[in-house]
Amino acid sequence: MQASGAAINTLIQNAELPGAATPVDVRLAGGIIQRIAASLRPDPGDYRVDANGGLLLPGLHDHHIHLMALAASLESLRCGPPDINSEAALLALLRDTCRQQAPGWIRGIGYHPSVAGDIDRDWLDRYVADRPLRIQHRGGRLWVLNSPALAALDAAAGDTPPGLEKIDGRLTGRLYEGDLWLRERLHAQVPKLAAASRLLASYGITGLTDTTPGNGPDEWRCFRDAQAAGDLLQRLRVMGTPAIGQCEETPTLRRGERKIHLLESRLPEFDTLCRDIADAHLADRCVAVHCVTLTELVFALSALRDVGARRGDRIEHASVCPPEQLREIHALGLRVVTQPHFIAERGDHYIAEVDRQDQPWLYRAAGFLAAGIPLAGGSDAPFGDADPWRAMQAATVRRTASGKAMCTDEALTPEQALHLFLSPLNGAGDSPVALTPGARADLCLLHAPWREVRTQLKREQVRATWRDGQLIYRSG
Ligand SMILES: [Zn+2]
Repeated sequence: MQASGAAINTLIQNAELPGAATPVDVRLAGGIIQRIAASLRPDPGDYRVDANGGLLLPGLHDHHIHLMALAASLESLRCGPPDINSEAALLALLRDTCRQQAPGWIRGIGYHPSVAGDIDRDWLDRYVADRPLRIQHRGGRLWVLNSPALAALDAAAGDTPPGLEKIDGRLTGRLYEGDLWLRERLHAQVPKLAAASRLLASYGITGLTDTTPGNGPDEWRCFRDAQAAGDLLQRLRVMGTPAIGQCEETPTLRRGERKIHLLESRLPEFDTLCRDIADAHLADRCVAVHCVTLTELVFALSALRDVGARRGDRIEHASVCPPEQLREIHALGLRVVTQPHFIAERGDHYIAEVDRQDQPWLYRAAGFLAAGIPLAGGSDAPFGDADPWRAMQAATVRRTASGKAMCTDEALTPEQALHLFLSPLNGAGDSPVALTPGARADLCLLHAPWREVRTQLKREQVRATWRDGQLIYRSG
């Protein structure tokens, strides 16, 4: 691996470029693609890579990710499907962890009621009573805490958050939308981003959009420091609160949309939503509205119609999108950022739980493209798998974990699936970044040419990743 910051030029020989008939040589210098030609003579001191005809792509972009939560999840127990599918399996996992892990907090994630029902404090206490334990539901909005955790958080004290559920005056251990409070109470150190970033680099990812609604100046500083320290290898767009409007951008850290997180059970006043959108637009920012139910989507679209959409406004997920709303998304000029892998990861639950009449409109893909709606992909990690190759694969086959087909007429070609992750960071769903001289040397080299890769969309295909001409990942 090159030393970070070293001014070494790179010569990639015999690489396939997207759409090109014959392999070429590509020279990287000064952080950009300096030259592309059928054959380039190596300069002394060049770092040379024989691509063997492997495909050279623009670096992949994950257009919807929660980076700090992903970093924390890498240090957490996975408590739900597909890793854990039964109460017995969850109990065994907790028992083993108590035995092996030094005393202190246990943090679980990804819980789903299909494992052991609607668990609460008492359920957790039965199995882990001697140390604080918290388990997060798969959607990310609900934590369940055991009694030692409630005690450690001083949850009986007066200034508890409204999301801490009480029944008959007693805390149930359920905490809704309480991440901020948890973080303050735990004086949690910011999770280390290096491992998550290296993992993403191994997928060929050079750019991320962090879509966490609560991102503010503190998170901005953490991201900036992590990039400066070499812990965060990707360039990053940060969505978040109005407060990041004041934060200073750098070449690798940019401001994204104002994130608006709608929740069907607690929708804001319509006028409030309209004002938030108008305020963002006035401050020269676009909005990205989280819509996973049809009600949330209808509500968001009404507000955007009232206020007027701005080029670049996004709908995150658009999980249920019937034809009428699809037409409206197109008419308003909105973009959609989707998670095709949710079909593979959650499809069996969708089939069991989602209203029958909504099922044909779940996580559409081909339908958006056919209507001319810019469509991009994002992992939603850690709530979805962070691997974009799995998402591409899922987009082409649309099968659930148990093998059931889901709206296969929404399937994408491998080329369309790849493009979900190739559009520019600040133009989700736009045409892929072109690899031409002068372009930024954010690149992903695959082991094989596209005609082979397209039949096997797998992370193992990634051979090397460069950002600004610096090697940030090499396989083997
Ligand atoms: Zn998300």
